[in-house]
Formats: sequence, structure tokens, C-alpha cells
Amino acid sequence: MKFYNINYHKEKKTFSQALQQGLGINQGLFFPEYIPKLNNKTIENILNLNFIDKSSYILSLFLEKEMELNILNKKIKKGFNFPLIFNIFDKNLACLELFHGPTLAFKDFGVRFMAQMLKFFNKGKKNKIIILTATSGDTGAAVAHAFYNIKNIEIVILYPYKKISILQEKLFCTLGNNIKTIAIKGNFDDCQKLIKKSFNDQELKQTLNLNSANSINISRLLAQICYYFEAFSQIPLDQRKKKIIISVPSGNFGNLTAGLIAKVMGLPIHKFIAATNINDTIPRYLNLKHWEPKKTISTLSNAMDVSIPNNWPRIKKIFQTNNWNLNLLESKSITDLETTQTTINVFNKYKYILEPHTAVSFCALKKYILEKNTFNIFLGTAHPAKFKEYIYNTLHKKIMLPKILTNCIKKENLSYKLPNNFLVLKNFLIKNYII
Ligand SMILES: *Cc1c(COP(=O)(O)O)cnc(C)c1O
Repeated sequence: MKFYNINYHKEKKTFSQALQQGLGINQGLFFPEYIPKLNNKTIENILNLNFIDKSSYILSLFLEKEMELNILNKKIKKGFNFPLIFNIFDKNLACLELFHGPTLAFKDFGVRFMAQMLKFFNKGKKNKIIILTATSGDTGAAVAHAFYNIKNIEIVILYPYKKISILQEKLFCTLGNNIKTIAIKGNFDDCQKLIKKSFNDQELKQTLNLNSANSINISRLLAQICYYFEAFSQIPLDQRKKKIIISVPSGNFGNLTAGLIAKVMGLPIHKFIAATNINDTIPRYLNLKHWEPKKTISTLSNAMDVSIPNNWPRIKKIFQTNNWNLNLLESKSITDLETTQTTINVFNKYKYILEPHTAVSFCALKKYILEKNTFNIFLGTAHPAKFKEYIYNTLHKKIMLPKILTNCIKKENLSYKLPNNFLVLKNFLIKNYII
């Protein structure tokens, strides 16, 4: 299978090339040339496999001859080495908990698969890969843990000094070895500008083998298709004939893109709900047919504070190629007030704790006027322990920290501190990575 550049159709790459290149010409996203369609019998067979075998089968349809199935299976076992929990609340309501990975957020799936793939395709090459990325919190942790101790891959993560929580910082700045973290005296935008400048610098480009690991990488997207199949296989048999509705808390819309690909492949999902916070470019676009991104606003569900979702071109492609009407997609924007109210209501009713992103997904599901005869799933994208203060302020409850967090709190922060200055960063990179 080839992957083509959405902005420049003539550019076609294999999986391993698209993986290593990240973006194509004109900043174009890569997308599969075709999406494999499975018949009912095949889908039924896949649903009966365990999560690792299921994922291997699905991903092998995209990787084809680039990797043997048994090797792919081993890589996925290493990548997806944590549980995925399907928590059934009521007869027709469940949460797909995607937050039991090493950094307690669903991004672990995509990033860990990417790490395993880069490791495999870089094997035997002399060059080290240097992954340079910026984070406002969560992605950095997922990247650091996914690539920790992988040979010949060095990780450099920039983040804004004193602008992320201590807990977040400890989660990825205490690892050491092949992980270097740099606190930049500036904000997140400054960090991203520094990254852009580095990628555009000819000298750095020629001397260092730079890669970005960012969220638009095709490998991260493909990995996320797998858990939609897993969710479906966990729906009780007597409920599967109902219309399946899935609510996806969305920021850059990668998670939703993966769900739509699962639907194209033949997974019988009736409807997706794109749940956003008040950064509502997509709900407004779907309702008013008018594309008008506004300035990004900070909210409680901060990983979804995005006003220009970078996966939207892929979603448009999916709708075009399949002749789908955009009405198939429901979209709801949820305020912070509704978010906290949802956390309170759900706790009172089910004794279940929702962090802000998952609360947005639940609230959008409830707001959507429920059709009869449905089974409803909302995605849980972060562990509530990552939002200790929010939970305390909203529910007046102290939440127990999982072991991963208590362990790293004790460790020393190994970050470097640099000014918001490109030349200083450039010298740092050259000094550390050119032998
Ligand atoms: C990144 C993130 C999201 C949004 O996912 P997208 O794929 O960008 O739409 C939702 N919840 C959490 C906790 C996240 O970290």
C-alpha cells in the first residue's frame, strides 16, 4: 500500500517512508491510497481475536509486505503493553477507557506504535534519528516514555518553563538516558517556533537526522484504528444489533479520523459525535457550513484547545471518497460550566470520576438527542488522577495517584533551561549530537 500527499497527489510513499518523513511537500498530510474494506465474515473473525492479534491484523492491511505479520505482532505487543478497559455503566452506555498506558492518556497508543515502527525501520542504519518536539504537557510525556531506551533514537523535548504542572513535568523530565528535556523561557508558541526554525535550518538538517514525531504522523493515526474494533468486540452480544453511537473528545481530530477509517473498513458504527470544548470551529462549520476559526481559548479540557484541527483535511477526504454526507457526523461544543456539571452529575449517579476531556465526551453524548435502540460509547482519553486539582475543586474528593505518578514525583528533574533563542538551541543540539 502507498500513502499519498493530500496536498500533492503525485507524491506517494511507502509506509516506512511516510513514517520517517512525517509531512509531505507543501506541508501535506499523508493518507492511505485506499482504505481496505472488510466483509462481515472477516469482521466477525477479527472481533474474536484478542486485542494484540486484532491490532496486528488491522495494521497488516496497511503495512502489507513492509513487515511480516509475526514481527508486527511482536512490535504491537511491546507498544500496546497496557490494558484497555471497556467500562459498562448501564444496559446501553459504556466508557472506552484509553488511559491506562504509561503516561495515563490515550496518546500512548499512537506514540508507542510509532516508536516501535521507527525502531524497526531504522535498524541497521548508522545514523541516529533525533526527534525534536514541543509539548504543552501530555504529548511530551507520551513521546519520552515510548522512546525511552530505544537504541539510536535520541529525543529532545521543548516545553515552556514554569507553564506546565509539576506533575506533568516530573512525568517526562526525570527519565534521562536518550531523553533530553529543555525548559524554554517562553510560552508554548515560542517552543513551536523554535522547532520550526530548527527544521528549516539547512545546517541542522544536513548534520542531524531530524524527525518530529508529531500528531499528524501516519503511524499514530493507524494505531488508533485498532481500539475502535476492540470497543465493538466488547459490546455485549445482545446489544450489538443496536445502532452504535460513539462520542470522541476532539482537538486535532486524529482520534475521530481513526474512528471514521474503522467505519470505512466496515465496522458497523452508526454515528460519531465530535465533542469539542468552546473551541468550536468544527461544530460551527457543520451547523452553519461556514469555516471561520477563531482565536484559541483556554479551557478545562486543555488538550483540546485547538481552533484549526490539523486532521480536518483527512476527514474531508474520507467524506469525499465515500460520498458521505457531512450530516453523518454530529458535533457538539461543550462549555466549561457544562463540563464541571457533567463531572458532578456522573459522580452522583454512577460514582464514576470524569476528568474534563472525558466529561466533554460524555456531555456531548447526552446532549445528542438519543435515537431509539442505540448503544452509546464515550471515549475516556485521560486518567482522572492527572487532574487532581480539578477533581478536588469539583467533587471535593482527594484522588489516589497511580503508582506511575507517585514513583516519578520522587525523582530528580533533569531538564536543561535555555532562553527563547534559536542560536542557543542550535548550539545545544550541535554540541550534544554531532560526534
Ligand atoms: C490529545 C487529546 C485529545 C484530543 O485528541 P485529538 O486526536 O487531537 O482530537 C483529547 N483528550 C486528551 C486527554 C488528549 O490528550
